[in-house]
Amino acid sequence: MFRIGITDFLTDPAPLRTAVLDGLATVECLAARDESELAGRIEGLDALIVFHDIKLTEATISRLDACRLIVRGGVGFDNVDGVAAGRRGIWVCNVPDYGVDEVADHAMGMILTVVRKIAYADRALRNGATAWNNELVAPVPRLANSVLGVIGLGRIGTATALRAKAFKLRVVACDPYVPPGRDKALGVELMSLRELLSVSDIISLHTPLTDETRHLIGPHALRAMKPGSVLVNTSRGAVVDLPALAEALRSGHLAGAGIDVMPVEPPEAEHPLISLWKRKEGDRPPNLVITPHIAFYSVMGITEIHEKATAEIARVLGGDKPRNPVNVEHFVPRA
Ligand code: NAD
Repeated sequence: MFRIGITDFLTDPAPLRTAVLDGLATVECLAARDESELAGRIEGLDALIVFHDIKLTEATISRLDACRLIVRGGVGFDNVDGVAAGRRGIWVCNVPDYGVDEVADHAMGMILTVVRKIAYADRALRNGATAWNNELVAPVPRLANSVLGVIGLGRIGTATALRAKAFKLRVVACDPYVPPGRDKALGVELMSLRELLSVSDIISLHTPLTDETRHLIGPHALRAMKPGSVLVNTSRGAVVDLPALAEALRSGHLAGAGIDVMPVEPPEAEHPLISLWKRKEGDRPPNLVITPHIAFYSVMGITEIHEKATAEIARVLGGDKPRNPVNVEHFVPRA
């Protein structure tokens, strides 16, 4: 019998029990909040499933003597050192397609909430605002014919673009790696980041976190955004320089923001963006909506993660190649 460890996020009794593992493997939840808690508990495991609550660095990966694969129970795999794993003959795989609809829905929900000032109006009234009319939220631009700039036209960026078109938004996109013709198939206009920043009324981020995208939206990019525009981030927290975003909101340069992801989760209470978000003074709260990294979540999506992650494990432990490896270029088969 093989042994699989789930490092974080899920707790016992292990809910990740699918038919494909019957008679093949046992599953243990390790419930770690930091990788240091894994020392002495992972050495003999044949496979690991990691969610997004912890990082797996080389220090931990070097202890995985028997492990054949690490599956990220999700899309983004920036929290696993795929190079270190590959060098030790360990595949790193993700589950790329379980939550495309959920995240695109969340991005669209953020766009509607922030542009229409829905959460803002609710909060202002609770804070004691007395204007029971449109004066409370003025000015609100018309969403139809506004320009949505999608940064990262992959699975989720594409699904968001399609939803936005149903709301009559004009969609432009920036993605240096998108296969030629996808823009034409979707009817979106591809352009440089610089141009996108200058023409978009709303920007929605859908890139992975890489060296290239870390702080892609920093002070310079924020200044290049249109006055009164809106930023939505459901990708990875560190794609945005959040103190710079807090400043852009505080100064009024941006009209609002919707943020599902932070560089450190949960964020510190004194984080500049959290301080702004919690501001109680007056009945004019910031037009800032924050959700706790839930864009991926739905009951059906979680079931799909479980099924697809365990199918990948069964495939590799059974001697086949993985379907969704993300460290192919670093993988060195064990002797
Ligand atoms: P994907 O790989 O299908 O698409 C990512 C796109 O970004 C690709 O087309 C790629 O070419 C593009 N890209 C890469 N570098 C870029 C750059 N410098 N500028 C512009 N575009 C660039 O991934 P996906 O499934 O669409 O997911 C996107 C991201 O969403 C994931 O990497 C993950 O971090 C995040 N995500 C968040 C949640 C959540 O719960 N908030 C859930 C799932 C995924």
